[in-house]
Amino acid sequence: MTRETVYLDHNAASPLRPEARAALLAGLELTGNPSSVHAHGRALRNLIETGRQQVARLAGAEPKQVVFTGSATEAITQAIVGGAKAFAAGAVAFSAGEHAAVGKAAEATGLPHWTIGLDADGRIDLDQLAAVLRRADDENVALLVAVHWVNNETGVVQPIERINALVGPTRHTLFVDAVQALGKLPLEFAASAPDMMAVSGHKIGAPAGIGALLVKAHADVVRLIPGGGQEQGRRGGTESAALIAAFGAAADATHYDNATMSAMTAALEAGLKHLAPGTVVFGEHASRIGNVTNFAVPGLGNATAMMALDLMGLSVSSGSACSSGKVGASHVLAAMGVPRDLANCALRVSFGWNSTPTDVDAFLAGFETLLSRQKRGGKAA
Ligand code: PLP
Repeated sequence: MTRETVYLDHNAASPLRPEARAALLAGLELTGNPSSVHAHGRALRNLIETGRQQVARLAGAEPKQVVFTGSATEAITQAIVGGAKAFAAGAVAFSAGEHAAVGKAAEATGLPHWTIGLDADGRIDLDQLAAVLRRADDENVALLVAVHWVNNETGVVQPIERINALVGPTRHTLFVDAVQALGKLPLEFAASAPDMMAVSGHKIGAPAGIGALLVKAHADVVRLIPGGGQEQGRRGGTESAALIAAFGAAADATHYDNATMSAMTAALEAGLKHLAPGTVVFGEHASRIGNVTNFAVPGLGNATAMMALDLMGLSVSSGSACSSGKVGASHVLAAMGVPRDLANCALRVSFGWNSTPTDVDAFLAGFETLLSRQKRGGKAA
């Protein structure tokens, strides 16, 4: 890119960290297959096992609980499709705020879905979760419960301790999508209730194309890709040692500071409310992770606003871009009861490891220009 750009879309993908780039390039220099017993193979195997220890450390997992996958989407699919089969589930229960990967995987199981709603601030409704567990017991159905820890659109932190306390002691299986929580909150996978968790490299500054499923020993039977016995038989296919090394290096380099992130988000929200007093911040009354805000200025459509901001070199998101790059309606905001016309104005700004307060200033300056154009009745773009 030739012009100055400000990247404010870390929840979509965080820029490659220098440590991850160095580990990736070093890994790519190596030759061979990590399953080979000769020196070339052993060198690759070493990279993988070091990466496993580093990712495990960040997730509070034991290294043997880390199964590398090609993405969190793959890990989620393994957990849900593989988990439903391995644990003979009779239904999949998941919240209305899950990433599309969860709903699609649940669909692929062919089992009934039981949806758990969100409240107006984006929190998973614990009464509905409890009701779903009671129903499973009444109908004598083994349930696979899938919830997310931190919402990718709103940053709402789900009451995971209470979810763990509700589902943990039951015979039902608990899967947690921890993609937006990794590196931001202590996951403590080994010491907590979830049977499985999914994480992703590109949200913490590794390249895309590497994720992991964290599994407890009893969930080692959960399989999706049989293949040639890699990852202790839990995920077939020759591992990319370079990507795993980059994931590990990014994990080691992650020192998230929620106070700094929250301060930037608070400054941005205060600035927005000053510029546009009608600004609505979604999930404002819930506990939110510091690095993200999702807001709407009523009457300012997000497709037009994103385009105008893009022309000013400001990369933000609507929080619900679908794979075609079009702006779609947010199922998360819909589940929170946000009216469609307001949801169509939602913009997401997310910070990360290389964000600075000058990014906030740049965004607010651009947004002020956008609003004044809108006021003058001209096109926002
Ligand atoms: N779950 C959440 C909460 C996410 O934010 C994302 C990515 O946006 C995913 C799952 C999918 O991750 P990946 O891109 O590694 O498949």
